[in-house]
Amino acid sequence: MQRLANFIGGAFVPPASGSYLEDVGPATGEVIAEIPDSDARDVDAAVAAARAAFPVWSRTPTEQRSRLLLRLADLIEQNLEELVQMESRDNGKSVSLARRLDIPRAVLNFRFFATAILHQASEAHVTDATALNYTLRQPLGVAGLISPWNLPLYLLSWKIAPAIASGNTCVAKPSELTPLTANRLAELSLEAGIPAGVINIVHGLGGKAGAALTKHPNVPLISFTGGTVTGASVAANAAPLFKKLSLELGGKNPNLIFADADLDDAVATSLRSSFWNQGEICLCGSRIFVERSAYDAFLERFIAATKQLRIGDPSEETTDIGALVSEAHMQKVLGYIELAKEEGGTVATGGNRVDRPGFFVEPTIITGLGCDRRVLQEEIFGPVVTVTPFDSEDEAIAFANSTRYGLSATVWTRDLQRAHRVAAALDSGTIWINTWLLRDLRVPFGGMKESGVGREGGMHSLEFFTEAKNVCVKL
Ligand code: NAP
Repeated sequence: MQRLANFIGGAFVPPASGSYLEDVGPATGEVIAEIPDSDARDVDAAVAAARAAFPVWSRTPTEQRSRLLLRLADLIEQNLEELVQMESRDNGKSVSLARRLDIPRAVLNFRFFATAILHQASEAHVTDATALNYTLRQPLGVAGLISPWNLPLYLLSWKIAPAIASGNTCVAKPSELTPLTANRLAELSLEAGIPAGVINIVHGLGGKAGAALTKHPNVPLISFTGGTVTGASVAANAAPLFKKLSLELGGKNPNLIFADADLDDAVATSLRSSFWNQGEICLCGSRIFVERSAYDAFLERFIAATKQLRIGDPSEETTDIGALVSEAHMQKVLGYIELAKEEGGTVATGGNRVDRPGFFVEPTIITGLGCDRRVLQEEIFGPVVTVTPFDSEDEAIAFANSTRYGLSATVWTRDLQRAHRVAAALDSGTIWINTWLLRDLRVPFGGMKESGVGREGGMHSLEFFTEAKNVCVKL
């Protein structure tokens, strides 16, 4: 069985504790690897290695940093199929989704930021005839990067790429549930020639290794993606040290379908926005609201399409729905389905664990629940969606905004003015009109309300990972 090590200062090293955690394959329930149970000592060593590498890396010419990141992107692409299989085995997602979404996006993340830094500009302001002010952007030092298990390499690379492209070095803590592709990335970074200590990866538990990273005095910047409750703990640890902080947190995203929408497209896309990656995407539209006059037609077609989804072995090409990431997460999702029934909801389709080894739950549609029910208020993060009718545009907006979250929203309508009006009224960091998960890496990405603080994406990431100084020169 594969036993992983931490990646510190360009070498693979065992954890200081000598202890290991089991990495369980969600499709079988069997242990597929062992990973370091790291603690503050390992984080200390990784931060020290990152600090040592910072002076040279931050002064490495931009063009050279860019070339190294492009080489890493090429290597990920060349090893795409291996990474696809690995991600699927570790996370439970179907190979077809990993091939379509996860790994290509990791390639794109490195390419995007490798080239973005070549075009970064700075501002200058002439203050009458007396002074010239210019903005000097510089990397901060060691970036602490913490990522979740749902899109493991995609989200890890979304942080590592802008952090190191900007001249920082980093210590990353991937989710303990999905460590395999992060480990492979470490190997590929060596092959790409990225200098030792620029990328460091510490595996282990969030409450131990992750918390040690967020509290570390020599890590001035934390980029965290994960749940809202964990985000609060990260913020509390970072606050006394006034760290620069980006929090990409949970969502309970509304999917608003007006009666004038293209129903074929709305059904087909809602199928993806509900059940892709078993619903384990922060941007999934887990609360569907349909204008009453189209409600029955939508529901009937949506249920029929959901029943066609193929659940099964994620390594098979034809599988649509794989396994949930862990037994604990599956139990949480099943608990919410029970809660939906207790709250008076109707399970229109699905609702059960699939009778096979591993952690499989049927794609589930629940009807008959109001917006104040817990099932419509709390993030389930599984293949469970609610469908609720609305009677007016104002009601649709009120329903959409009725949670503490504000990550993304989808609006289906052919009325152009309504599309803009509703988008402006929604409490969401991203609003998709007649589409879902269409991403341009230049746009600001992040959540409102309890879905996060800060914006990443494009120049927003490059700004986050640098400090802007004002230099004022008297003329
Ligand atoms: P999570 O439990 O919050 O964990 C996220 C990461 O934080 C993991 O690496 C975790 O390590 C670590 N962690 C846990 N406790 C920590 C602590 N006290 N200090 C520092 N780090 C700690 O989230 P998850 O269950 O992995 O991911 C699902 C959540 O992420 C959902 O809420 C989803 O909406 C959100 N998400 C948001 C976005 C976005 O862009 N807004 C994108 C994807 C996912 P362990 O795994 O070892 O616990």
